[in-house]
Amino acid sequence: MKYRTTTDFTSHSCYLAQMMLGRLKNSRPVLVFLVLMIASLVGLLLLPPIAQDQSYHDFADQRTLLGVPHFWNVVSNFPFIAIGAAGLWQLRRDPAIDVLFLGILLTGFGSAYYHLDPNDRTLFWDRLPMAVSFMAILANAIEERVDAKAGAILLWPLVAVGVFSILLWRWTGDLRLYGWVQFFPCLALPLLFLLFPAKYSGTSYWLIAAALYALAKLFEFYDSAIYSIGSILSGHTLKHIAAAAACVAVLRHFQKRRLITSE
Ligand SMILES: [Zn+2]
Repeated sequence: MKYRTTTDFTSHSCYLAQMMLGRLKNSRPVLVFLVLMIASLVGLLLLPPIAQDQSYHDFADQRTLLGVPHFWNVVSNFPFIAIGAAGLWQLRRDPAIDVLFLGILLTGFGSAYYHLDPNDRTLFWDRLPMAVSFMAILANAIEERVDAKAGAILLWPLVAVGVFSILLWRWTGDLRLYGWVQFFPCLALPLLFLLFPAKYSGTSYWLIAAALYALAKLFEFYDSAIYSIGSILSGHTLKHIAAAAACVAVLRHFQKRRLITSE
């Protein structure tokens, strides 16, 4: 969304405040959501700073193939580029959807770049588009479940927090806010889905995406253990494939979804 004048910005901000306050009178879930968001952000300050564990860069599959170092961890990112491009090409123009699929596309490039030479400097370019994608998913869920306009307006502050979390890591070495960017959607999305009725069909695609994302995290954790089974593919390569499959489920959702209640 572009604000042509400060009046546009003020009217949008007023709308959001009115919408929130209007709902707060009779909608406890919105209040719960906002309290959770603020409490979890404040809670970050109680945690000690989190530094990047350098053993994170030491992946199980180090094979060079066709002159490409860490070949499978690099090429297993190409599906993100294809899915991101398909989303941008096929879907209805909507800023939250565009940002999400642009984030997925750039994650493909950023992650491939990181895996060619894994270190903190290259990881920055992997995490930056991922942080944007996580925040865009949250904005899309708010659009779909709570209020379309609120989600569209919240997209930009959420994306700003995502980008800022990565810059903060770069500037201070502290990963707490990036941890929140990953953790908060895992808390907020189930609540949004449980507490608010669906306005669109296709909720099952979101559930499939969540299950595939959980599988991806599992593969990531068992990187070496999976690679030790025959040295075929590592857990981290399978993580990329499972995460890309989750993105396909999200793409299918947006391709198939139909409005089921008028706003
Ligand atoms: Zn990776």
